Amino acid sequence: MTVQLNDYSKIYDIAVIGGGINGAGIANDAAGRGLSVFLCEKDDLASHTSSASSKLIHGGLRYLEHKEFRLVREALAEREVLLAKAPHIIKPMRFIMPHRPHLRPAWLIRAGLFFYDHLGKREKLLGSNLIYFKEDSPLKPAITRGFEYSDCTVDDARLVVLNALQAKEKGAKVVTRTRCVKAYRQQELWHLELQSGAESYQIRAKALVNAAGPWVEEIISENLQLKSPYQIRLIQGSHIVVPKLYDCHKAFIMQNEDRRIVFAIPYLEQYTLIGTTDQEYLDDPQKVEITDVEIDYLLTVTNSHFKKQLTRTDIISQFSGVRALCDDESDNPSAVTRDYTLALQVEDKTTPLLSVFGGKITTYRKLAESALEQLGPFFTDMGEEWTANEVLPGAENWTTLEDLVIKIQNQVAGVTEQLATRWANAYGSRVWGILHERKALEQLGQHFGHGLFESEVQYLCENEWANTAEDILWRRTKLGLAFDEKQVKNLESYLTGRRQKDDAA
Ligand SMILES: Cc1cc2nc3c(=O)[nH]c(=O)nc-3n(C[C@H](O)[C@H](O)[C@H](O)COP(=O)(O)OP(=O)(O)OC[C@H]3O[C@@H](n4cnc5c(N)ncnc54)[C@H](O)[C@@H]3O)c2cc1C
Repeated sequence: MTVQLNDYSKIYDIAVIGGGINGAGIANDAAGRGLSVFLCEKDDLASHTSSASSKLIHGGLRYLEHKEFRLVREALAEREVLLAKAPHIIKPMRFIMPHRPHLRPAWLIRAGLFFYDHLGKREKLLGSNLIYFKEDSPLKPAITRGFEYSDCTVDDARLVVLNALQAKEKGAKVVTRTRCVKAYRQQELWHLELQSGAESYQIRAKALVNAAGPWVEEIISENLQLKSPYQIRLIQGSHIVVPKLYDCHKAFIMQNEDRRIVFAIPYLEQYTLIGTTDQEYLDDPQKVEITDVEIDYLLTVTNSHFKKQLTRTDIISQFSGVRALCDDESDNPSAVTRDYTLALQVEDKTTPLLSVFGGKITTYRKLAESALEQLGPFFTDMGEEWTANEVLPGAENWTTLEDLVIKIQNQVAGVTEQLATRWANAYGSRVWGILHERKALEQLGQHFGHGLFESEVQYLCENEWANTAEDILWRRTKLGLAFDEKQVKNLESYLTGRRQKDDAA
């Protein structure tokens, strides 16, 4: 999607750099308060850290050990707020922590879980309890008891897209594959120079939000030629995906000998997601990739807990991301604060620049509220906070996902329960934007494989900024795990044809 050059005549209230969860969340909050908003993302929405997370909406049990009480309290409370806002993409999950007395005594874990149960408001999520493992446990026989508590899982990339979509529906202009190459203050306005393919153009805004994640510091020093108020540390984290490691629909939180924890999480019905790691990263964030050391680490922790032993050949997929954490000078990468810091820089009482350092997916909504609170004095007509009570796109007009699945199957002949469930979980009620009045699978156009039809691809291109096969297969859906090379090529050539038609029109 490109912006007309005449956009220069318009003065936006806020320009946001970065289409990860923090940029999309801030753009959405601002647009909903009546501000005019522009957001640019240099690649695809959620194409960096925000699609490489452990996909948890969680208080962060282990952060209690690092005394991050503010963060844990806020994150715990956000679990239920976000669950109500997007129940199609966010689901409650029980977590089992096998007890390993030589790593942490039972009293310490009980105390942590007591805080976890009571620190944030909890209505839907169950509290914690002690459990004993029987012979049928997937864990090694030496592990006989553990603790169980609640958190949530989320489709991280779709959470970003839904925020961008809601922002657009509230009037924001969101452009992807558009890099902010430079920004400067002139006559009480921010001027942004943007590059989209071969096209360059400028836009102007009263305030600038720098939500560039791992690039936040680089944007300030190189693109804005200013001094960064904070330094960040880039901490790489990686995950592997293996065939379902065990049968129950619960996650495991494994304690490792180095006192770190690693999750094994049920993923997309057929798989288990295992992660994450914490290691200092000094290279270009664009190039981050899982290392052999990380793979060995994840396999070793998992194999020390589960009866089923994994080898490298079990790994179906892997991904890596970079946390941009505010440097608190911790020696240990896993101890660096996970809390966020917002930095406001103002010149002559105008042209605020707000930069986001750190942050969790879980706390994106509160982070956006804090950002808007800091920008409030520059926009005195701005509306009130609203995001706690309004659902995200797709969460409207259905009571249970089971009902929605039945409705889909009743309308479109030939749709399997598996396909209807995938659609319901990804799109909620927005699925009707894909299906319209169509009554049979054959009316959904070309089939690219594994239940991906042309009408879904069209919906994603027209409404959700999808452009390439990778956008569709790895971020808008997770069908990339099922598609083979030939199917990917076929989808890519369809999309190329579509883009050529669009360019010619
Ligand atoms: C391994 C790992 C596991 C995690 N697990 C969890 C979890 O389970 N739960 C949780 O709550 N949090 C988790 N997190 C943290 C969470 O993922 C991040 O805090 C969050 O995604 C950061 O989002 P962001 O928007 O700040 O950054 P990003 O998602 O990286 O977005 C920044 C965007 O800015 C864009 N950009 C940069 N420069 C420019 C430019 N010049 N012009 C235009 N665009 C630009 C980039 O392309 C990028 O898309 C995890 C993080 C990691 C790495």
